[in-house]
Amino acid sequence: MSVTEEKRPAITTLSSNNARDWHSLAPREALDLLQVDPKQGLTQEEVTRRQEQYGRNIMTQKKQQSALVLFLLQFHQPLIYILLLATIVTLLLGEYIDSSVIFGVVLINSVIGFIQESKALAAIDALSKSMSAKATVLRDGSKKQIDASELVPGDIVLLQSGDKFPADVRLVQARDLKVDESALTGESVAVEKHTEAVAADDVLGDRFSMGFASTVVTYGQATGLVVETGDKTEVGKIQESISSAQNLDTPLTIKIKEFSRLLLWVILGLSAAVFLVEYLRGADPADTFMLAVALAVGAIPEGLPVAVTIMLALGVSKMAKRRAIIRKLVAVETLGSTNVICSDKTGTLTQNQMTVQQIMAGGEKYTVTGLGYRPDGEIQQDEKTAELSSNQALEQCLKAGLLCNDSTVKETDGQWLIEGDPTEGALEVAARKAGFERRELEDQQPRQDAIPFESEYQYMATLHGGENPVIYLKGSVEAMLERCSQALLPSGEQGDLDKQSIETQVEQMASEGLRVLAFAMLQAGNGQSRVDHEHTSSDLVFLGLQGMIDPPRKEAMEAVALCQRAGIDVKMITGDHAVTAAAIASQIGLKGNQKNGQLVAVTGKQLQQIGDQELPDIVEKTAVFARVAPEQKLRLVKALQSRDRVVAMTGDGVNDGPALKQANIGIAMGITGTDVAKDASDMVLTDDNFSSIEGAVEEGRGVFDNLTKFIVWTLPTNLGESLILLLAVVLNSQLPMQPVQLLWVNMTTSVLLGLMLVFEPKEPGIMDRPPRPTDQPLLTTKLIMRTLLVGFLMLISSYGLFLYELDQGATLAEAQTVVTTVFVVVESFYLLNCRSLVRPIGQIGWFTNPWVYYGIGAMFLVQALFIYTPFMNMLFGSSPLDGMQLLRIIGAGALVFTIVSIEKQIRFRLAAQKRKAAPKREQLA
Ligand code: ADP
Ligand code: MG
Repeated sequence: MSVTEEKRPAITTLSSNNARDWHSLAPREALDLLQVDPKQGLTQEEVTRRQEQYGRNIMTQKKQQSALVLFLLQFHQPLIYILLLATIVTLLLGEYIDSSVIFGVVLINSVIGFIQESKALAAIDALSKSMSAKATVLRDGSKKQIDASELVPGDIVLLQSGDKFPADVRLVQARDLKVDESALTGESVAVEKHTEAVAADDVLGDRFSMGFASTVVTYGQATGLVVETGDKTEVGKIQESISSAQNLDTPLTIKIKEFSRLLLWVILGLSAAVFLVEYLRGADPADTFMLAVALAVGAIPEGLPVAVTIMLALGVSKMAKRRAIIRKLVAVETLGSTNVICSDKTGTLTQNQMTVQQIMAGGEKYTVTGLGYRPDGEIQQDEKTAELSSNQALEQCLKAGLLCNDSTVKETDGQWLIEGDPTEGALEVAARKAGFERRELEDQQPRQDAIPFESEYQYMATLHGGENPVIYLKGSVEAMLERCSQALLPSGEQGDLDKQSIETQVEQMASEGLRVLAFAMLQAGNGQSRVDHEHTSSDLVFLGLQGMIDPPRKEAMEAVALCQRAGIDVKMITGDHAVTAAAIASQIGLKGNQKNGQLVAVTGKQLQQIGDQELPDIVEKTAVFARVAPEQKLRLVKALQSRDRVVAMTGDGVNDGPALKQANIGIAMGITGTDVAKDASDMVLTDDNFSSIEGAVEEGRGVFDNLTKFIVWTLPTNLGESLILLLAVVLNSQLPMQPVQLLWVNMTTSVLLGLMLVFEPKEPGIMDRPPRPTDQPLLTTKLIMRTLLVGFLMLISSYGLFLYELDQGATLAEAQTVVTTVFVVVESFYLLNCRSLVRPIGQIGWFTNPWVYYGIGAMFLVQALFIYTPFMNMLFGSSPLDGMQLLRIIGAGALVFTIVSIEKQIRFRLAAQKRKAAPKREQLA
């Protein structure tokens, strides 16, 4: 990469707001300029002062779309064009009332759409913001997790792989640091960074001594000095180009948009044909035009797009209540058809409440008493307190657990909590139970350097100074044994390493579901100040094993059972030992290939041997994948997707990004997840809990159900309205409904009646049916049949009453009012039918959604205004009705309700019989 030719001129003068070439300063100079001690960080007072001076570390959001644009966009819909056209033409024809009513409806529709859409956008925005970025800082001499927005210039931040730089920082310490700067420079290859100053005129991509906000640490760790925050950061300066826009389009809304566009042409064609026919018949052009307009208006489901957006947005907030934060609206829809969930083990299916229970060191076995992080308990051998001094291997093994450790256990308000990794917390507690004092040990053997734990290497190492410099290591048994050549004996001498017997021990512990860690040490050279993977690749001295329990989460077991009933397979993908993983998976109730009554785990090593051809078969049958490297998750997702699976996959690490993106639903962990994983995900679990995934799937199914209900409810009206007008043309009769009356029905009912379906609770047994196939059309044949049935019933009842009323001597205005009211009343009754697509209403309970009754009540009230107030009579050409007329209308509604109820009842019975006759859904052996 040659960028030297296009070097920009150096910024030599310090511009108004103190912009400095931080990258060209030595770390010391930068620290001095910002007046901070890198070992202590800023004091709280200083932070408060600087927060006042510099403001919060946030970028001022440039509004993506102004309110005005969003409002105007409401008119940018094909169906609205027709109405606008109708407004203009009626105006030209001198039908001022009609013209203003039609335009009024367009306006109201746009206002409602605007309000709802802004609300939905705001809600989704707020949710994604509520997941604010965190940063680890050094303040007042101790490490703290804070909101990244509270950072000020001069703060010392600690970073490790997976973290996003929370501001622009000058690196003051870096270890094997690699940074992905693609968000800023577009360069996708990770850049190596260091602390040495670079030339002042080096371009952004060459400023290797800096870490820039929103770029990501992909490897290593670093300490940085915050130099610029908020809008002053490099991304802050270019942030217009970074869009944070939420997209409200999903496959469903796109399908609906396409449907509307098609409908537009059908309607225009039909209207044109009607106009032509009438015109040739010699009818008055103005009248014919009104008829064509009426047809168009009636056939358009005006409320549909808005309803869909509202329902999806509501799904988002329902899922948030169940601790699943949706980052992309599409996920709401996809969740409903998810049919396999691949989940992490530790912390997601298990409690991540680790307690060491067994120790093996120097050939001896020990048990540890006590539970949780309270350091009450002791190390026992044969039920007697173990003597540490009699076994140096045990002593060293516990010490390694305490010193090769980045986490701490603390008591606050009588509660023992960990800060950091539970695995490490458990090791500290075990050492404390044996009487070790962390402070004391750390003073005697201060840490000089460390290799942090990464899933890829599966171990961690720390270098300690003092009289006898030593490297302690802990990690997976495989990673340790590979590197050990000797074992420490109880006497303190080194002896032969019996790998065979250690492995047998490990199998034994793992089969009880214990997570086993191995410990080792290595004499360090005097004056050694760094430890690298090369130093620790061989000749280690094996110290022992510690086995800890991590009980399964109760709610996860229930959620797994629920998923399995719902036809969703659950698979465990973990970095842990195969036997441990299989034991926990069995306890949790996963289903998959078994051998001797035990679940079979496929390991990462085995996966490497399996070709892409055979992989899908094996993945389908296997429930447990152990010692899986993050990169392999991507292969697993692809294998499942090749079998048309809709895959939800969890992840937390830096390397999980590709798998999360590939999965249909990428799920990141809110607590343990890295920024990289969260950015790549569609959904984030705030509690890292498997049962929250199940909850989200349940809500997803509910949302989809309600959407379908709305569509099935709304379409017959449009059908009925179009048919009645066409029939009038064919029979050459008077117009049964005026355009404004059609608009009245469509608008009022979709808001007051249809939207009440949003509040419909999830149907019983929502998790008892198989997932919705992705290729299943929105409306199945059964539902299309029902739509046709109800559309025709509406036609018959309304047109029938129209003719009857005219026959009885009613005025045209009265007859038209009757037709309008028939539509309103039939829709109200039919709304009750639509509360469930398959179940008779008695089965879901008459009063489980009171909102439909409030809606019907409100609808009847405004309809009364429509019928009886002179003002409305003038606007809509309606006319008061008498009691008998009303009674006949109500009768029509009740009749439709009864007929649909019977249809549903019959279908429900037939389906139940079929279910009985057919054998149960095939279960995995
Ligand atoms: P998972 O979270 O799925 O259990 P990880 O990838 O976190 O898997 O861990 C894989 C293995 O690495 C563990 O089984 C354990 O042996 C080892 N390990 C986990 N955490 C640490 C740690 N903090 N230090 C050293 N080794 C660890
Ligand atoms: Mg882990």
